[in-house]
Amino acid sequence: MKTGINKDQAISNLMDLLAEDGPSGGEGPAADAVKQKLLAAGCKPQWMRHAGLKRLPAGFTVGNLIVKIPGTVKAPRIMFSAHLDTVPLCRGAVPVKIGNRIVPKGKTGLGGDNRASVAAVVTMTQTILKNDLPHPPITLLFTVGEENGLHGAKAFEPSDGGNPVMCFNLDGSGERGGVIGALGAIRWKATVRGKSVHAAVNPEGGVSSAIIAANAIAWLKANGWFGRINKGSCKGTANVGTLQGGEADNQVMDNLLVTGECRSHNPASLKKFSNVWKKAFEKAAHELKNNKGECGSVDFITASDYRSFRLKTGEPVVKRFLKAAPLAGRKAYTEVISAGLDANILNEKGIPTITFDAGNHHAHDLNEYVDIPRYLEACTLATVLASET
Ligand SMILES: [Zn+2]
Repeated sequence: MKTGINKDQAISNLMDLLAEDGPSGGEGPAADAVKQKLLAAGCKPQWMRHAGLKRLPAGFTVGNLIVKIPGTVKAPRIMFSAHLDTVPLCRGAVPVKIGNRIVPKGKTGLGGDNRASVAAVVTMTQTILKNDLPHPPITLLFTVGEENGLHGAKAFEPSDGGNPVMCFNLDGSGERGGVIGALGAIRWKATVRGKSVHAAVNPEGGVSSAIIAANAIAWLKANGWFGRINKGSCKGTANVGTLQGGEADNQVMDNLLVTGECRSHNPASLKKFSNVWKKAFEKAAHELKNNKGECGSVDFITASDYRSFRLKTGEPVVKRFLKAAPLAGRKAYTEVISAGLDANILNEKGIPTITFDAGNHHAHDLNEYVDIPRYLEACTLATVLASET
């Protein structure tokens, strides 16, 4: 089977796509560049559309780009996904090739997260169409808004993509095996209310929301529920992200909003973490009293951001990946990671999804680069996965 990719074309795809703008919410230019390349490769305009804009938060300019390529063999539809957006650090990035790497020219990120993946999916499509490789119906899903909350994946309906039976998601930083599991996360918000009085005239009459939050957080830290949590089967992390409150220096603070997150591979652990945090805040609010015996209160609410997932090694998408990896020069192994991916959402939506990298390193960093040989492997791997029937 002629799965050989055109390396020069693969590299120019990467250079072109790295140069396109596309922060979360403003992925239009990157999506247009992808469409142009796919049209030139022989994709029909009627195979492509943007979908899901109405299901995205306000401020997004385009929805996910979905491309449905008809199959040449009768087999269930498969999908490839890659997010289009890059982090703000990559704005204005100018890619340059130095030896075996592509690096940013100035003081910016590169955007190899995730344009290397987008370019690999484009290269795969060019290859199967140019070389007439037999392939099942294939959906390409280019998601928006991954970096700021997996928004595109959340807005994706499997029926928009023709209900694929499996998905290969390209993403990540550093060399990895096939990612078959990732942790879940919840975000929480604690609204702490105290009692406002003049801080110098009547401090005894006040209930400071700052002290309530401080006592709660200090207790959580002292008891091992802050940062990395390791309590038997209960493992994960928890963090306070923001604190906003108060009005004036001479007023006892009566209003403070604290936000944060908890993460774990285990849904039961996540539930436990949010319970412990909630109770710690409530207890701190109850215990702090003014001279009249009055106390403050806390409203602690949680929202599930994404659930953890774990694919079985016997799952067809995993077997297909493990079989294809050595044909592309990669070691066949799987792993479980500590980060959230579009794959969390796609798995939750019932599409078994494995994730592999396209050679990007140091994502979200001024030292970001793409390793060209590793990127070319990803192009080949995608092509082998797409053309295996
Ligand atoms: Zn990414």
